[in-house]
Amino acid sequence: MGLIIRFRSKDGLFRLEGEETTPLGVLLDELVQTKLPPLESSTLMAKTNNFNQIDPKLTLQELGFKNGEMVELQYSKRTGGQSISGKLSENEIPASQNAVTTIKVNQLLIDDELDNDKGLITRPTSSFCRHSGMGMCEYCSPLPPWDAEYHEQNSIKHISFHSQLALLNSETNKGTGSSFIPPLKQSNFKILSPCPSGHEPWPRGICSKCQPSSITLKRQKFRMVDHVEFQRSDIVNNFIDSWRRSGVQRIGLLIGSYDKYEKTPLGIKAKVEAIYEFPQMDWEDGLTLNQWDEEDKVMNLISGFGLSPIGIIFTDLSDAGNGDGSVICKRHADSFFLSSLEIIFATKWQLRFPNVSRFSENGSFSSKFVTCVVSGNTNGEIDISTYQASETAEGLVKANLISPSTHPNQMFINKQDSERYVPDILYQMVNEYGLEVKRDAKPSFPVEYLIVSLTHGFPDVERGMFNNGGWPIENRGYLGEVGDVHLLEKRFKHGFNNGDRQEFVNELGDFHLLLYLQENGVLNSKELQLCQKIVRSSASDSADTTVASELELLLNSAGWRSLSTISKLL
Ligand code: ZN
Ligand code: ZN
Repeated sequence: MGLIIRFRSKDGLFRLEGEETTPLGVLLDELVQTKLPPLESSTLMAKTNNFNQIDPKLTLQELGFKNGEMVELQYSKRTGGQSISGKLSENEIPASQNAVTTIKVNQLLIDDELDNDKGLITRPTSSFCRHSGMGMCEYCSPLPPWDAEYHEQNSIKHISFHSQLALLNSETNKGTGSSFIPPLKQSNFKILSPCPSGHEPWPRGICSKCQPSSITLKRQKFRMVDHVEFQRSDIVNNFIDSWRRSGVQRIGLLIGSYDKYEKTPLGIKAKVEAIYEFPQMDWEDGLTLNQWDEEDKVMNLISGFGLSPIGIIFTDLSDAGNGDGSVICKRHADSFFLSSLEIIFATKWQLRFPNVSRFSENGSFSSKFVTCVVSGNTNGEIDISTYQASETAEGLVKANLISPSTHPNQMFINKQDSERYVPDILYQMVNEYGLEVKRDAKPSFPVEYLIVSLTHGFPDVERGMFNNGGWPIENRGYLGEVGDVHLLEKRFKHGFNNGDRQEFVNELGDFHLLLYLQENGVLNSKELQLCQKIVRSSASDSADTTVASELELLLNSAGWRSLSTISKLL
């Protein structure tokens, strides 16, 4: 019988199959030739999990290896090989002078749907109406989706992205017959380089053709996402639990999808299905993200569920010391809501996840990525606040024009130097006489010009793709929470022994468990995809018969059989 041997390396986990009579060196050669990056010669070393060196001439049997054995790999990569590119792309597709064609891009389905929706706000007939039942007049005709009065009456702080788009489109493409002009344009505050008039680049030359025009900051009227909906309250609760148990802060990635939000015209909500907790260092007063080696794998798993990263969430909690679980309210109208540092952080995340739009000159416009803060509200309760950085904030960060200041509610404007040209930046405000005036934004300006707030909540009936399975959450070693094969056995024992398929499927539907199964590496990618398919279809309304047949496939797969052997053996 073949044995599956797992190899853990800085480039990921690999699994190979060998016979009991196979020398380990044969598997190592196979790794070098097919899996590992180019190595410096004779730097590869195989070690046990205690980091004792293993003699590669010995066979798997001689080494006493069992199915699923884990081998640690150490090596030096040949220099000049792979380089890891920066995630924050500074490159923008240059805007064409007169873009008149529709850009072919793959928008999200939700955007396609809302593009085809007029979003008209219907009104009942009123006492002013002088017509019969079927008629219509200025008092009862439907309003456009961006109608300001309607939003004010319903306490909706911002119009939706698609309402804004419909408004801009109606203004930009008024007449019929003329060619289509994309109504959206991303902010670009950089010097145009090289300049079309051919002079030397900044700082040796600048002219009206390459100079960015002055910037007037206004509060953004629209938001790309209107509402964040956590599919189950325990998603947030389990996250906050890390603080309750340790007293240190925590940050996670929101995983989910987007859907229509009916409470605002042409609205969009972000549906959170799970929170992935990054590798991080946490303290009472903050945190830092560690290098995220697993990024590609995690992203792969997420997309396998038909989901995507949709935001970040972090805590800023301090116990009020009253012994009743109340927390300090640090963020309020007189302090700040999202600090200048956090706004830059949120903006950089947004730039990593651009919103694809066929109505934009270059195919994308702003982002649907959200930022949630868990902190104390004015009643001393733990509460969530949800924000997005504005499109202008994205432009300012891309052009490297702003930096966080020591005052959380003030954003600092960077100094002009030989690499950076800083245009005039003003902000619009209502002064003490109620007049709209412009103020110079240098050296710093209030951060409220760079954020919009969203609403958040939970569905009436909690029902997500994943259950609250209670599998240890990733990267929580500091709390002593680590998933292992013993836990796996405990979890699946009942389903195995009783042949209770439904229970088995329920147990499987835990995001953190599936991450563990991916990391653990016994299941191959096909088997893992099978798990994902089972979880997806059992969460949807589709017939159970498909789940049943896939479940049989999984339970009879070589990987699952190895997994059950390992979890019972150890
Ligand atoms: Zn009427
Ligand atoms: Zn120029």
